[in-house]
Amino acid sequence: MINKSYDDNNIFAKIIRKEAKAEVVFENQHVLCFNDIFPKAPVHVLIIPKAKFKDILDFSKNASTDQKNAIYVGIENIITKFNINSNGCRIITNHGKNGRQEVPHLHFHLLGGRDLGSMLT
Ligand code: AMP
Repeated sequence: MINKSYDDNNIFAKIIRKEAKAEVVFENQHVLCFNDIFPKAPVHVLIIPKAKFKDILDFSKNASTDQKNAIYVGIENIITKFNINSNGCRIITNHGKNGRQEVPHLHFHLLGGRDLGSMLT
């Protein structure tokens, strides 16, 4: 399904189209994983679907099972690649205004490599 409210000019759409650079750490047909440009932890990877989904609700309603499963494949690969399973990590998606989502393409932050503190301050 084509999402008419998706903004094709967002920075992650440009990264997917290779019009903007990113430090890619894993990708397959459906998912792209790259380092956050302003890392908040030693490991801070963004996991995004390659298809056009603006946020978690759009993705939940409209993505295929393969597209959804690919997010877990990305998570598994990043945890394994950075060897952070034993010490743990945090996975976050910000949604909308109150969630302070800045980039209108669904992304999951995977943070690790240090004690991340409590969830909210
Ligand atoms: P959010 O508030 O969840 O939308 O977070 C957007 C994230 O995207 C922030 O952590 C930014 O540092 C990150 N970001 C923005 N532009 C880029 C970029 N060109 N490459 C990598 N990460 C980016």
